Amino acid sequence: MKTLSGGCACGEVRYECTEKPLLQFICHCRDCQHSGGSAFMAFVFVPRDRLTYLSGNLHHYDVSAESGRLLRRQFCGSCGSPVSAHWPAAPLVELLTSASLDDQRLFTPTHELWMSRAEPWHPVHPDTLKLPHGPDEQLVRATLRAHFAARQQP
Ligand SMILES: [Zn+2]
Ligand SMILES: [Zn+2]
Repeated sequence: MKTLSGGCACGEVRYECTEKPLLQFICHCRDCQHSGGSAFMAFVFVPRDRLTYLSGNLHHYDVSAESGRLLRRQFCGSCGSPVSAHWPAAPLVELLTSASLDDQRLFTPTHELWMSRAEPWHPVHPDTLKLPHGPDEQLVRATLRAHFAARQQP
């Protein structure tokens, strides 16, 4: 059953997902500022095996995160909208940009990353857990591990 859908600005790239987001982040890192064109990017994490790209031509480029892991950032080849990203070395989850969601009300951020790089002119969200640097590995991995372990239950 489809739980969310989305795509790029011109409509060529379209996706559907049958699972609700596992985690929701705002990231203020320099790469996200460049990729998003402003002060931050906002992402929801979904399991990649529950996500289907229906149409369009996703282009990508890879950036090396401070953790040393490569993040693959994907955008529409026609309009350039940032649509999604994933870690090729850890491909269980796909990050979907909040702007690409058809129903943007789905986005309810829980965490903000890289507050040490946040632009001072942007007001701070009152309800997020704020981290000075990248994702707390325990937080991300523990959440994802719990999700995938729960699937094994009969
Ligand atoms: Zn497009
Ligand atoms: Zn970032």
